[in-house]
Amino acid sequence: MAAHTGQFSGRLIVDLAAIVRNWSGLDKVSATALTAAVVKADAYGCGLVAVGLALSKAGANFFFVATPEEGLALRTTLPDAHIFVLNGLPPGAATLFTEQRLMPVLNSLSELDQWLQICLQREESLPAALHFDTGMNRLGFRLQEASIVKAKMEETGFLPQMVMSHLACADVPGHEKNRTQRAIFQSLMTHFPEIPASLANSAATLGGRENHFQMVRPGIALYGGRAISGRPNPMTQAVTLEMPILQVREARTGETVGYGATYTLNRESRLATIAMGYADGLFRHLSGSNTMPGGKVAINGHLAPILGIVSMDLCVVDITDLPEVPSPGEFAEIFGPNVSIDSQADAAGTIGYEVLTSMKGRFIRFYRDEDGTLVQA
Ligand SMILES: *Cc1c(COP(=O)(O)O)cnc(C)c1O
Repeated sequence: MAAHTGQFSGRLIVDLAAIVRNWSGLDKVSATALTAAVVKADAYGCGLVAVGLALSKAGANFFFVATPEEGLALRTTLPDAHIFVLNGLPPGAATLFTEQRLMPVLNSLSELDQWLQICLQREESLPAALHFDTGMNRLGFRLQEASIVKAKMEETGFLPQMVMSHLACADVPGHEKNRTQRAIFQSLMTHFPEIPASLANSAATLGGRENHFQMVRPGIALYGGRAISGRPNPMTQAVTLEMPILQVREARTGETVGYGATYTLNRESRLATIAMGYADGLFRHLSGSNTMPGGKVAINGHLAPILGIVSMDLCVVDITDLPEVPSPGEFAEIFGPNVSIDSQADAAGTIGYEVLTSMKGRFIRFYRDEDGTLVQA
């Protein structure tokens, strides 16, 4: 018997050329600043190893991951890349970081002390970044710790690769908090005059030169997601999720669809049942009732609204208005060229980041080649 090829599963198709194009576009926007690539959370669901390799070939040298494990996975793929670990230095991890040449983003005095200890042992200033909190209250040194950090640097000869911070409201470029945080960051940098600075995620990179400093750190925009709210998205969509249609059925006016009978058909309808549910990452918030429309999928390029409550493994869509009746085994596009990740996110009351990173389970990931052929991951 032939090995299972997964031809009955859905497929997530990642367009690496589009991700590379997005990175190159951001690299142009950031002009003289270095353009890193944020590849945390398995490259926003697109595959850390494949995305890392493709971007590295395109010229990216600096990568950000969240955890040490992600850093190790990327190190195996890219022996020469500069890899920053955003979540910092876990207790006891300094040796691993130095051996694997992972650079911790030091977020607290205790992390700094742990790093300085290994620097002293090895008698060298091992590369790391310093992260100051300018308004997130999440990770990072408090501003008033700057003088302590500075004193420790002078005492030990430690020179960080970079000093960074993170904007809370970059997706709204006109937000006053951006100006406040930038001003705080600029005055902070006067304490670290020779050290490269980094402030910008995707939105801040696209938001203006004043955010760029010496390195930008885009994530979502690489994958085609919308970074800035309320503006046309200049990036190329890079990800398509297609799940199989299981059944097509006719249903009568007055009948209901799904759990809770939340949708009553108000016309003679044709429905398609799709093998995609909340266990695969299709949010229950995309359910559609008679009073609250839900998300949409696309079938042969035509939009089909979700009717009733999204169940664990299935959802039902209205295909009454489609010009052609699809057959079981054909795919429905959950997001892709006809349904952007952001329109799906808007319908679910969330953001494209969550749509991308929630997809899991019963599909196979493919990468689209330059010539359009699909290669299984
Ligand atoms: C995730 C992250 C980024 C990338 O953000 P995007 O909005 O996806 O571009 C940049 N910097 C930090 C500190 C992050 O946590």
